[in-house]
Amino acid sequence: MGTSTAVRRVVFDEERCKGCELCINACPKGIIHLAKHTNSRGFHPATVEDQEKCTSCTFCARMCPDTVIEVYRDK
Ligand code: SF4
Ligand code: SF4
Repeated sequence: MGTSTAVRRVVFDEERCKGCELCINACPKGIIHLAKHTNSRGFHPATVEDQEKCTSCTFCARMCPDTVIEVYRDK
C-alpha cells in the first residue's frame, strides 16, 4: 500500500525495439513515446516515464511484433 512511484509496470527491452511506434498508437493512456537516445541498432526505443499512469492493460505488449514489452501488475 502507500505510494507507488517506484513501481515499473511496463518494461521495454530497448535493444530489441525497432521504434515502429505500434505500441505508442495502442496505448489508451498515451504514455509511451520514443526515447531521444538510440539503441545499438540505431533505433529510438519506446519508453514510458509516467509509469504510475500505466493501467497494465497490456495493449502495448500485445501489439508489439517483436515482444519487446513486458507488463506487470501491482500485487
Ligand atoms: S500496459 Fe496499457 S497503459 Fe500501460 S503502457 Fe501498455 S498500453 Fe499503455
Ligand atoms: S511496438 Fe515494439 S518494436 Fe515497435 S516501438 Fe513499440 S516496443 Fe518498439
